[in-house]
Amino acid sequence: MIDLAEAIALVESNATPLPPRRRRLLDACGLVLAEPVVSDVDSPPWDRAMMDGFAVRGDDVHAASDGVVELDVVVDLAAGDVTSLAIRPGCCARIMTGAPIPAGADAVIPVESALEHTRAAHAGSRVRLDARTFRAGQHIARRGTAFRVGDVVLVADSLLGAAEIGLAAEAGATHVVAAGRPRVAILTTGSELVPPEATPAFGQTRNSNGPMLAAATRLLEAEPIPLGIVADRPEAIRAAVAQGLAADVLLLSGGVSAGDLDLVPEVLRACGVEKVFHKVRHKPGKPVWFGVVRRPEAAPTLVFGLPGNPASSLVCFDLFVRPALMILAGRPRGMWHLPRSRARLTAPARATADRPVYLPCRLAGPPDALAATPLPWTGSSDLRGFAGANGYVSLPAGGRIHDSGTDVEVVLR
Ligand code: AMP
Ligand code: MG
Repeated sequence: MIDLAEAIALVESNATPLPPRRRRLLDACGLVLAEPVVSDVDSPPWDRAMMDGFAVRGDDVHAASDGVVELDVVVDLAAGDVTSLAIRPGCCARIMTGAPIPAGADAVIPVESALEHTRAAHAGSRVRLDARTFRAGQHIARRGTAFRVGDVVLVADSLLGAAEIGLAAEAGATHVVAAGRPRVAILTTGSELVPPEATPAFGQTRNSNGPMLAAATRLLEAEPIPLGIVADRPEAIRAAVAQGLAADVLLLSGGVSAGDLDLVPEVLRACGVEKVFHKVRHKPGKPVWFGVVRRPEAAPTLVFGLPGNPASSLVCFDLFVRPALMILAGRPRGMWHLPRSRARLTAPARATADRPVYLPCRLAGPPDALAATPLPWTGSSDLRGFAGANGYVSLPAGGRIHDSGTDVEVVLR
């Protein structure tokens, strides 16, 4: 049995980033950019109207003596319309947001500033505009003021969220080179397990870990590959493991503790998985197993034997699988682990005697004055206390009761 910090360090040192790949833009959503995105256009691409109104010549407006300027409307321009007409002195264009400013015009006066009875003026009529609040150049987004052709709009290591995907699209990047998306095979072991659609008979248990681990994988922008349930028979486990070893990561659930049918460590050994550690001084999650298949030519496969008890499985995912997936996906170090903070307990929390413990809790309040409310939780097999938990209270070994009001370490999830 090893300490938590040592186990985490062993996971980190065995994980290396997957090779980046060129992907369709939307397929890179949630991934880290590996090569910069360079724009093939100016943004805005031309001087663009930012209001519905009238494109005018500033000189005409400044010349207005009584605060009102009267102009001939010579053309109507909706977004997408272009004109070769130049606006001459005494003239203006009716213009909609998003249309290019015609030559000669250098500002937009919003339609709300047209005097009531001329507000509907179109090409061929005259408009009277209130000029009192006019500023030279107003309501035009000038060409290239956001970025220019050839500018790097996204640097390598940017995380591709919605804004980044939109910006890349504007810059003309239909494809980008992004970090790998780890493929995670998920194998559930246990002769007692039945799929969620079955009503468990006496002695049977629904497979909650399979869907839970697939969900946790997907939430980290990795790709789950569910391999289903296998019974506690070495040949059955071996065949499924062989299949799972084609993935970047293989997660097994169950069969790693000390029972007669905890066959997973032995099967993994027989399949050529090199053990890195088995059993960690932590609750829940003590039985966790970690190993690696190293290959001279190809990328290694990381193998996690997670405990069958669902709460243990989930905590082990957060502690060990999460950093592995983050490293494989090329994420910066600051994202490898769930963030930690301090919080004040709103109710007593009991530590475990022999190991550090994570207790599910609800965190609330501002970041510098967090309050942690431990959730009712009956132990490793109980997922209910974890549903709705947005944190863990992290208590050191020693078995003492931490009173309400005490400052404790928490993990934000
Ligand atoms: P094991 O780690 O295989 O000894 O399993 C420990 C406990 O977790 C047993 O009560 C199992 O029935 C339960 N368990 C194992 N796998 C799952 C699973 N996929 N979903 C729900 N419970 C499970
Ligand atoms: Mg089992």
